[in-house]
Amino acid sequence: MTAVELESHALLIGGKQVQAQDGGSLPMIDPCSGEVFARIAAGTAQDIDLAVRAAQSALDGAWGRTPPVERSRIMYRWSQLILDNFEELAMIEARDTGKPLAAARADITATARYFEFYAGAADKLHGQVIPYLDGYSVNVQREPHGVTGHIIPWNYPAQQYARTVAAAVTVGNAAVVKPSEDACLSTLKISQLGIEAGLPAGALNVVTGLGETAGAALSAHPGVNFISFTGSPRAGTLVQQAAARNHVGCTLELGGKSPQIIFADADLEKALPVAVKAIILHAGQTCSAGSRLLVQQDVYDEFTGEVANAFSKLRVGTPEMDLDCGPLMNAVQRDKVKAYTQAAIDGGVPLLAEGSLEDGLNSAGFWVKPALFGQVSRDHAIACEEVFGPVLSAIPFTDEEDAVNLANATDYGLVGAVWTRDGDRQQRVAKRMQCGQVFINNFGAGGGVELPFGGMKKSGHGREKGFLALEHMTTTKTIVHFHG
Ligand code: NAD
Repeated sequence: MTAVELESHALLIGGKQVQAQDGGSLPMIDPCSGEVFARIAAGTAQDIDLAVRAAQSALDGAWGRTPPVERSRIMYRWSQLILDNFEELAMIEARDTGKPLAAARADITATARYFEFYAGAADKLHGQVIPYLDGYSVNVQREPHGVTGHIIPWNYPAQQYARTVAAAVTVGNAAVVKPSEDACLSTLKISQLGIEAGLPAGALNVVTGLGETAGAALSAHPGVNFISFTGSPRAGTLVQQAAARNHVGCTLELGGKSPQIIFADADLEKALPVAVKAIILHAGQTCSAGSRLLVQQDVYDEFTGEVANAFSKLRVGTPEMDLDCGPLMNAVQRDKVKAYTQAAIDGGVPLLAEGSLEDGLNSAGFWVKPALFGQVSRDHAIACEEVFGPVLSAIPFTDEEDAVNLANATDYGLVGAVWTRDGDRQQRVAKRMQCGQVFINNFGAGGGVELPFGGMKKSGHGREKGFLALEHMTTTKTIVHFHG
């Protein structure tokens, strides 16, 4: 395909599709072939400025006056339009990220659900009446921040967009979104559906482009009143510094090194497929991937043997092949993951099993085989650092105390799981785990939209999902009326 035949995608500013002010564009690369399959506009600080102004005018105009019940209807129509365009969106997501079609379909189902959930919340966010001194009436109202900035990564583009944008827009903020330059086509399509659903011009704006230009400009813009960032700790630090310079708040959803603790009394048969899926989902490129498998010594050989057996059957292929996982997102990610596994092999860490690549894959794609390492020493890089690939580190532990210490022995704290039949231990361990979500006898990549999600320690701060997200997406005003 020549460059002229490639689809080209514009920015969405003030309800209109427009090119970047300087005419710049960026290639979209198919992770299965390494080939350019589309181009997106490369927004810069100038485009961000236009988008922030458009958002502010929406707040000063029609959007600012839209009552909660009408916002709720728009959100619901938006969720239905996503379902009406389900198959097209799933194909876009699979093409953009390389994930199996079944996984992309699950992502779009979850995406529509975010809009549905927050549609129901728009008109149910109440304030407070505070009893105060004689002669006073006091109420505390919840208000939108105003213009919200949303910076999104490439691993679950549609879902992560929905997670932050649906919560922001439902409470009346006007959003400016900077999706990932690696995967943003579902974001553009879903945003267009938002306009079709009835969002007034400027209530939602999307500026595609590079992180260091468009992303940095959005986080530093003085017209942005709140920032929601999902991505790496490196970029998260820069975004938080920029937000601090403008004295605005932010939520940071960063990485993870999530543990699954398997006690000897656990239902091992039940734990096995969950432990494998927790790391294999989207080839391990999931912030909440269960990348550390902590197994009690008594059942360590038995359980890791079963996991190794399952790993050796894992197959990697294109979205259409719909296997266990697809390629990694880009060459940088592939090289990073390969460097981690090679260093582990060179350092003598036992490689217990590997999955396989299907025959006939394009060798220019960003393929890696899923790998299970055993007896990983506790201070090894693959035991402590976020690999963001299909690499599972199995580590034995002795008793409950040891398990908890080991689970907490990383800089991250996003999700964790404890597998045991002992009810008292379930509660004791869950309470001591330093992470934002704990699963008992289960593990979910963040769980459903109803469940507040976010990190402790270097996994970030603030919460998305559930009603808690709406608290982050609003501020309060206390109105004190002295009437004597
Ligand atoms: P990244 O930080 O490089 O990019 C994320 C987003 O930030 C992109 O839109 C990018 O363009 C933008 N960005 C990059 N530099 C920026 C800057 N200087 N200023 C403003 N924006 C900037 O991360 P990534 O490679 O896209 O994603 C992988 C990382 O994200 C992993 O560490 C992963 O764990 C994390 N992640 C976390 C969650 C979560 O919910 N906790 C979800 C997905 C991914």
